[in-house]
Amino acid sequence: MAAPTKLTYLDNAATTRCDPRVVEAMLPYFSDVYGNAGSRNHRFGWEAEDAIEIAREQAAVLLTAQPKEIIFTSGATESNNLAIRGAANMYAKSPAGSSSRGHIITNIIEHKAVLDPCNRLIREGFEVTFLEPGHDGIITCAAVEAAMRADTILVSVMWANNEIGTINEVPAIGALCHARNVLFHTDATQWAGKMPVDVERDQIDLLSWSSHKIYGPKGVGGLYVRRRKPRVRLEAMIDGGGQERGMRSGTQNVAGIVGFGKACELCFASGDSERARLLALRKKLDTALPAAMEAVQVNGHPDRRVPHITNISFGFVEGESLMMGISDIACSSGSACTSASLEPSYVLKGLGVGDEMAHSSLRLSLGRWTTEAEVDHAISAITKAVNHLRAMSPLYDLWKEGIDLSKIDWQSH
Ligand SMILES: *Cc1c(COP(=O)(O)O)cnc(C)c1O
Repeated sequence: MAAPTKLTYLDNAATTRCDPRVVEAMLPYFSDVYGNAGSRNHRFGWEAEDAIEIAREQAAVLLTAQPKEIIFTSGATESNNLAIRGAANMYAKSPAGSSSRGHIITNIIEHKAVLDPCNRLIREGFEVTFLEPGHDGIITCAAVEAAMRADTILVSVMWANNEIGTINEVPAIGALCHARNVLFHTDATQWAGKMPVDVERDQIDLLSWSSHKIYGPKGVGGLYVRRRKPRVRLEAMIDGGGQERGMRSGTQNVAGIVGFGKACELCFASGDSERARLLALRKKLDTALPAAMEAVQVNGHPDRRVPHITNISFGFVEGESLMMGISDIACSSGSACTSASLEPSYVLKGLGVGDEMAHSSLRLSLGRWTTEAEVDHAISAITKAVNHLRAMSPLYDLWKEGIDLSKIDWQSH
């Protein structure tokens, strides 16, 4: 086989290429406009501050929010921590050490950057309900409603899942929370910048998103914090100079924030056309791969999903071996998404996908520079690799002969 000439990047849910227009916007802020935005008494400081405020407007426009409601952070991980731990500690029902400090509702298919702060809060005396999705991978408003208690203070449900791309019932959950006077946080890292957001219409109190998932630089992100109806207060996690309205101290990453603002502006401008283009490409993957081979399944709800992510299992094939067979395609497998361990994805397990099908899954995620030719190449390369691996699989042979594999008594053979 000839050496691959160019890598096809289908891992845009992990990170995206920084848009050259973003890089260009950032460059002056390294060594020309290098002031500290906190320096209030000279032009170096004012220029840095002006640049940050322009970025704050660009970020606010993307969410249909007010600039004052945007807090810049180091990324969605920090935004999630600040939202969840900051709200829980601010709105705790009773002091640390008492029996229950309040109740939080989240779910088992969240990113670790939501699950782990929730687990920390349990150790600090809060109670947390972890909802399970249906087979379609969706967290419904009805499930959240059934879990609500008199002492519930916060609901955190991601907008779109990063492994399978399914969309949870966010506006409905927001409306439910507002009717019950409960704060609603959403990790919108795979949604904002890709899909429209209107924090009023969608009834969101706290929203996390990240620059490097939307063609901006790494190490910067945002948290939307509602200022009215209700005015949300958070206990800061980083204390110091009082930047970002006291919610996130530390000298601002001016160049990073400028790049993030530019990335938000570009996503807002091209959203509709980009969505349509990516949706067509993803649908091609979703239909062509199951059509080309037997025992292939698209995981999660067939339609209720973001345009740029799909997750497909190829029976009788191990995801890691499959990835080795398609070495000129960069993507993720369901076995190793979260760590170096070979545990199958907790998200796929969470929606009831069996261990074998979870181990045999690929996450393919598209982005601004994904071409139709690359998608076509992925379809043929994956088909070839799956057929090749299956040709060596005794299990696949048995299955082809119509033998029910679940009924085989392996011990006596
Ligand atoms: C990538 C991702 C994060 C983490 O974002 P960082 O900016 O890298 O910290 C959190 N949640 C979801 C859903 C993600 O996809």
